[in-house]
Amino acid sequence: MPHTYSFFQSVERSFDKAAQFTKWEKGLLEQIKACNSIYAMRFPVKMDDGRIEVIEAYRVQHSQHKAPCKGGIRFSDEVNQDEVMALASLMTYKCAIVNVPFGGGKGGIKIDPKKYSTYELEKITRRYTSELVKKNFIGPGIDVPAPDYGTGEREMAWIVDTYASLKPGEIDAAGCVTGKPISQGGVHGRKEATGLGVFYGIREICSMPEIMEKLGLSTGLVGKTVVVQGLGNVGYHSARFFRQGGAKVVCIAEFEGAIYNSEGINEEALFQHRKATGSILNFPGATHLAKNSDALELECDILVPAALENVINKDNAPKVKAKIIAEAANGPLTPDADEILTSKGALIVPDMYLNAGGVTVSYFEWLKNLSHVRYGRMEKRFRENKNMHILAQIEELTGKTVSAEERLAIMRGADEIDLVHSGLEETMISATREIMEIWKKNPTIPDMRTAAYVNAINKVAISYMELGIFP
Ligand code: GLU
Repeated sequence: MPHTYSFFQSVERSFDKAAQFTKWEKGLLEQIKACNSIYAMRFPVKMDDGRIEVIEAYRVQHSQHKAPCKGGIRFSDEVNQDEVMALASLMTYKCAIVNVPFGGGKGGIKIDPKKYSTYELEKITRRYTSELVKKNFIGPGIDVPAPDYGTGEREMAWIVDTYASLKPGEIDAAGCVTGKPISQGGVHGRKEATGLGVFYGIREICSMPEIMEKLGLSTGLVGKTVVVQGLGNVGYHSARFFRQGGAKVVCIAEFEGAIYNSEGINEEALFQHRKATGSILNFPGATHLAKNSDALELECDILVPAALENVINKDNAPKVKAKIIAEAANGPLTPDADEILTSKGALIVPDMYLNAGGVTVSYFEWLKNLSHVRYGRMEKRFRENKNMHILAQIEELTGKTVSAEERLAIMRGADEIDLVHSGLEETMISATREIMEIWKKNPTIPDMRTAAYVNAINKVAISYMELGIFP
């Protein structure tokens, strides 16, 4: 009998399902599951036309087992307390899975950003930040927001500026928020991080022969068909990395519709087309699907829901044909959809592991802010000189010389972007292997989401024990 669960209840449900596979006592599990601090606020903002609007906003700190708390801020009409609580919980588990030493947090402002002028958005964001400062809900060692649905670099720049102006002399103020523009203390590679993390995670899974065999797929990404729902920051970059990695993105869906091309779609050209025409429709070489939600039901190897929660539910799950569901968004499947698809033999790659690339690179940005130095600044030239020296020795000993192009490639020392990508690749590969190892060791664990939760619960429980909270 299908049930309706709120988003937070579905996270709790997945947690409880996994908790049975752990050895922790009930009280500790209850503590891990609970949202520790919930700040619901209302504040007035004067709009461009002189009207005063009361803004509804939230910040939830799900867990402080590690400090600071970490998680994005979303601007959306759909924001409500339950949603922010669910997203904050997912952040706790996400950080634990990718070994990023943060507790989980999330924020939300209940507005449709498209309906406000830039100036109004700036006023709302700055006022929200000062409300957080007033209640000690933001700071490099307390709680560090980041972009999420409906927000980006611009909003993060407003946040850091507001915070820094209210905290004069705080040397680490730049670390109060991540996802900032480079000029405001951001790190190279943050923008594409979630999409790149999705790619690294799926590439690693596709390289595992036992998993691919069970799904009736060959190993490797080359030639695999991919459907992407959402051409926002996560969807766009996921599509780009899948295409560059040799997969074929055959369908992309957005609010206004879905387009299909069996030969593959170039996401960059599509992005430009949408910018110019206001729609992804009428893209050269592609056909239209009747409804945008039809994209989810297409025949494909990998389906990437990269928009919002609950897009696959009990009604459309029976019609989903993808073998791998790559949860790039947070919570795109309802618990019913999860069960239906698992019983059909699909592999659901869970959100709080697969989309952890964003927070992983946020961690790198925060470290950069605390260390006050750009990655690569100290060692780049040293490495280049060393490489030159090694190459010169090899050429002398062999009597052969490499091409000018090869010379440049061998010589190059790492820039910030190289180190960030390398750190992200390492993080996603080891997180994938850890989860798969847990699953393999305990074959009664029914699915990958449960295995990921088991991993997260164990790590958070160990930190609580180490803190001596449960002596
Ligand atoms: N909003 C992103 C997420 O859901 C990123 C959070 C962060 O970087 O702190 O994971």
